[in-house]
Amino acid sequence: MDLYEYQARDMFERHGVPVLAGKIATTPAEAKAAAEEIGEKSGGVTVVKAQVKTGGRGKAGGVKLAKSADEAEQMAEQILGMDIKGHTVNTVMIAQGAQIAEEYYFSVLLDRTNRAYLAMCSKEGGMEIEQLAVERPEALARITVDPNVGIDQAKAEEIVEAAGFDAATGEKIVPVLQRLWDVYSREDATLVEVNPLVKLESGEIVALDGKVTLDDNARFRQPEHAALVDEKAEDPLEAKAKALHLNYVKLDGNVGIIGNGAGLVMSTLDVVAYAGEEHTGGAAKPANFLDIGGGASAEVMANGLDVILGDEQVKSVFVNVFGGITACDAVANGIVGALKTLGDSATKPLVVRLDGNNVEEGRRILAEFDHPLVTVEATMDGAARKAAELAAK
Ligand code: GDP
Ligand code: MN
Repeated sequence: MDLYEYQARDMFERHGVPVLAGKIATTPAEAKAAAEEIGEKSGGVTVVKAQVKTGGRGKAGGVKLAKSADEAEQMAEQILGMDIKGHTVNTVMIAQGAQIAEEYYFSVLLDRTNRAYLAMCSKEGGMEIEQLAVERPEALARITVDPNVGIDQAKAEEIVEAAGFDAATGEKIVPVLQRLWDVYSREDATLVEVNPLVKLESGEIVALDGKVTLDDNARFRQPEHAALVDEKAEDPLEAKAKALHLNYVKLDGNVGIIGNGAGLVMSTLDVVAYAGEEHTGGAAKPANFLDIGGGASAEVMANGLDVILGDEQVKSVFVNVFGGITACDAVANGIVGALKTLGDSATKPLVVRLDGNNVEEGRRILAEFDHPLVTVEATMDGAARKAAELAAK
């Protein structure tokens, strides 16, 4: 889960990372009231910032300086409702204005390939870091962080030195990097990015913008994170699947996929992607990942089908089941029960491939049911091809 900037700001503050005052508002009047309060610390100057989970807000006109509370109200009026890269702005943050001397960049993230964490730091922040990494890679220091050690004083010193900071500035940044590491490790984040990390005219180092991604798999030990979820910003199909305790990930294609076992579902995605290329010229692609697990009861199958059929992009569904502990006849009964439960709301063709324990009985049950939308295929490749062709029609 990605956090909004204001949520990251609050989290930074709790862990001792220096930040400026900030307050959120959802109407221009609220923005004015917030600016009256926040502006007291900065001669009436505030910055009105769009709260959307995407970068480049500055460039898109979503970050504006206001010299008075009235101006903050006008800016909020302009920014609220704005569309930034497909994200509607429902909230703004009124931040204390800052006298910026220099803008830097810092991030720490999970580096899966190297089974470590990676810290990145640059004296040239503010701009798009991807661009800097391509155009002038030498200006972006990349330092591996040992997960068992983290960013302690020695590691923080190594990072600021690699980034080329002068000794006086480096000394001020070192403790801030250690506090940002606290955020990263104690909150179970997979990304903490500060762009810009600024030096104020006063010499103080402050995190002026924050991007935090939390590891959802650590939610069980981070009960406070549940309060950070913004249902409105979640994909509605993924939210529905989550409520039904289904292991579902929405993708961009048109062939719905249901399988039992994560490995089988992953290979089903590959086989469908391949069949789509081979037999439909790329017109058919997997629409989702959905693993209904070992005990595929009629109810779970119905819930899974219900979520997938609710995806407007889906044109056909491939049910790929390998009968193990739950035998194929039980799965076939699950499919029959699901189609009965769904009734008229099942409107898209289903291609079923069953194999494994008790497969003959499973196929017999489906043959006897003889549903006009169901096609049974003997092999995984055959079923993938059939589902791809139906989706591409
Ligand atoms: P982003 O474009 O989505 O990354 O939004 P940022 O929060 O990074 O803001 C973009 C730019 O606005 C920063 O790089 C700063 O140059 C500027 N900015 C943000 N807050 C302030 C502020 O309080 N005072 C001043 N003068 N500039 C600010
Ligand atoms: Mn930024």
